[in-house]
Amino acid sequence: MVNSSLVPTDRPFNPWERVVALIEEAGHLLNLDDGMVRRIVAPERSLEVAVPVRLDSGEVQVFTGWRIQHDTSRGPGKGGIRFHPSVNHDEIAALAADMSIKTAVVNIPYGGAKGGVRVDPTALSRGELERLTRRYAFAIAPTIGPDRDIPAPDINTDAQVMSWIMDTVSMLHGHATFGVVTGKPLAIGGTLGHAGATSLGVTICALSLLKNLDRPIDDARVIIQGYGKVGAPLVEFLTRRGLKVVGVADVKGAIHAPGGIDPTQLAEHVGSTGTVAGCPGTDAVDLADFFALPTDIAIPAALGGVLTAEVATSMTAPIVIEAANGPTTGEGAAVFQDKGTIVVPDVLANAGGVVASYFEWAQDLQGMMWEPELFQRRLEKTMHNAFDHVWQRHLAWGVELRDAALAVGVERIAEATELRGLFP
Ligand code: GLU
Repeated sequence: MVNSSLVPTDRPFNPWERVVALIEEAGHLLNLDDGMVRRIVAPERSLEVAVPVRLDSGEVQVFTGWRIQHDTSRGPGKGGIRFHPSVNHDEIAALAADMSIKTAVVNIPYGGAKGGVRVDPTALSRGELERLTRRYAFAIAPTIGPDRDIPAPDINTDAQVMSWIMDTVSMLHGHATFGVVTGKPLAIGGTLGHAGATSLGVTICALSLLKNLDRPIDDARVIIQGYGKVGAPLVEFLTRRGLKVVGVADVKGAIHAPGGIDPTQLAEHVGSTGTVAGCPGTDAVDLADFFALPTDIAIPAALGGVLTAEVATSMTAPIVIEAANGPTTGEGAAVFQDKGTIVVPDVLANAGGVVASYFEWAQDLQGMMWEPELFQRRLEKTMHNAFDHVWQRHLAWGVELRDAALAVGVERIAEATELRGLFP
């Protein structure tokens, strides 16, 4: 066995190794036998596909894509699709495992899956993006479906991309198949409330945590890395609930305003310039120093692997809420543990998105739209229940929130796996 202290810390971060270690730790905490842990760790099905696309220039380029179903013991696979140049098999496998845990933590009847294409979508025209999406959807179509595996948006994919996937699958089936993806536009089987649901879940986790810690909510300072699908609504939601967003970063720059950033002004600025950088009333901050800003809560809401040991060491925030998937490396987590930083893990903090997806899918299967109030009430209740359950387990087991959440998820997957038995 390798002594982990001998592993060089500057080794590239491998998210798959990290998630395996976390599931194994959870299995240990729960006294699961090795066979059960091995069954839970191993992805059920991994599909790698070639995605040839004719570019506008006439040239054909071949991209690589994946769809990985990690666990379906509790229900169909569920998880997003990302388009990004850094996508690789191990990253998608790790994210699929995270989804299995996430759906179990919030106790919705799904397993976990994830997909992606290694591509820089910003370099593609709209036509190229559509052809890429449709060819990828066609390639993974045999393994997805409303009762098999249901994709959703993730990094660089949106409601339009979901529409193309839904249409491609529908063309193959010969009838409209709304329930095959979630995060769709309202006109074709989407639901009110899906956009912003992840941010609402993060907000509920922030409020619940402060309440449980007996710390004041009013004017609690927050910094957010990322101003996309999750970060942008988050600035508004947190401000509306009384917290003070004092720093925001995106790929092009970072801003700081100790007195608080006005969400409307920031949204208008980004609308006209495409970046948070230069927002009136804020100071520019070096991207490298962003997480060192003085704050009460730090929220990574962009890519994974950003909270390395070095970044974690530089941070002053006593609380981290993981709105992004996998933002903390193993070494970063060790630093947080030493410093006593409280971390609300991704599998709990950002689960609002997949809960909203569950509600959208349920409406598609029912053929009936819910009232927005019902959607909102159920979303808030599901997130509150999940947070409270993980919090109670964290106290009862005497472990950190991440370990408690992982163990809650793994416990539910193990129960389903045990009940279903081993085929044949
Ligand atoms: N991509 C989101 C996540 O990582 C949502 C997944 C879904 O709704 O299926 O949780």
